[in-house]
Amino acid sequence: MKNKFDYIFCGYGLSSCIILYKMSSDNFFRNKSILVIENNNKEINKTWCFWDNKDSIWSDFIDKKWSDIRFKNIDTEIDYDLKQLRYNMISSSKFFKKIKKIVESKLKISVVYDDVLNISDENVTVNVRSKNGKYTANKVFNSIPKFTPYDDHKNFPKLLQHFKGWTIKTNTSCFDPSLATIMDFSIDQKNETRFFYLLPKKNNEALIEFTLFTKNLIEEEEYESEIKKYITSLNITDYAIISKEKGVIPMTCYPYDKYNSSNLINIGTAGGWTKPSSGYTFRFIDKFSDKLISFLISDRSFKNFKFRNRYWFYDLIFLDVLFNKNSVGSVLFETMFKKNSFSSIFRFLDNEGSYWDDFRIINSFPKLMFIKSFLKNIPRIISTYL
Ligand SMILES: Cc1cc2nc3c(=O)[nH]c(=O)nc-3n(C[C@H](O)[C@H](O)[C@H](O)COP(=O)(O)OP(=O)(O)OC[C@H]3O[C@@H](n4cnc5c(N)ncnc54)[C@H](O)[C@@H]3O)c2cc1C
Repeated sequence: MKNKFDYIFCGYGLSSCIILYKMSSDNFFRNKSILVIENNNKEINKTWCFWDNKDSIWSDFIDKKWSDIRFKNIDTEIDYDLKQLRYNMISSSKFFKKIKKIVESKLKISVVYDDVLNISDENVTVNVRSKNGKYTANKVFNSIPKFTPYDDHKNFPKLLQHFKGWTIKTNTSCFDPSLATIMDFSIDQKNETRFFYLLPKKNNEALIEFTLFTKNLIEEEEYESEIKKYITSLNITDYAIISKEKGVIPMTCYPYDKYNSSNLINIGTAGGWTKPSSGYTFRFIDKFSDKLISFLISDRSFKNFKFRNRYWFYDLIFLDVLFNKNSVGSVLFETMFKKNSFSSIFRFLDNEGSYWDDFRIINSFPKLMFIKSFLKNIPRIISTYL
């Protein structure tokens, strides 16, 4: 096998697949030689949820769409008709099979299952060393977290979004398949930020996911016992678990883009493309991959690939508040959902709100707590932008 390529993708997960999919529909990339190195050839069970317009390029990949969503807390239940938007769910195993088949048939691509050990930008080209090979490319796209200064967050408040989900099947009709509960805080918060997703696929099948935004992980048994308790609270006693998923997503405003060099870019979660205050990543990979495609076509240095804007600053303050007083999460989210329309919240969470949306949402939070956090973060903000 040759070892010189136009592009090398380290990792063949969501961000690499989305970028390759977009390349596959652009003639500019038809003759580019591409190598993908991935160390896991087993099926991955994840579900990705995101909101989008009724029709988008992802329509063919979506397993389930909801037009109504619910926010819940102990004394609050807010339902919302999404109108022209849909809350979508994609299951990773079907998605990967389908998207990989498309990209591998349309692009000049080689896939190697191997462990990437090192990536180094040598100014004109980038070298990639794996357990069983050495390769060179003009441009490298890295989605492997260990090659970014992932754990070096000391100067930034860092929380973990961690979760475990069960897809369960019941014998009787127990769910409303038209309604997705995106946050249910009506559970014991244990002085932390804890909630459930309840995403019914059918009237007898749903993904039930226990999610926490905290500094540390919890014991494996606690995720499971909380899920069982939640299922009991829905008056469901007879059910079968058909699949399980779990994950940990970093929630941080660490400026990952500073680690991109001319020809090496960190993508996906490893590139800081995860929304720090929510953990949502799919939509951001979708958006940033469009920007990346135009960078490649115009042959611009990845050093100029910047995406930090005013939302970075809002996320920093929000995370700092949650980091210092983790128990306020349910109150903050409840206030936000009570005082604002879901459409403006979704625009805000997509970093696409108007200044008026931003003002109204920020204004709904407790002022003193946020002002204190803002003042405390001024040095961090200045040092990041200098
Ligand atoms: C269970 C789960 C559910 C999620 N749900 C949502 C959701 O609902 N909505 C949302 O917006 N986001 C969600 N996310 C966050 C985010 O969308 C996903 O984590 C997404 O997969 C990130 O894409 P990525 O390309 O950055 O990383 P990945 O998809 O993880 O890709 C990285 C790839 O690198 C490979 N790799 C790692 N080390 C090496 C190595 N040394 N050599 C070679 N290959 C290596 C991995 O095997 C992996 O395939 C979820 C995350 C998880 C874990």
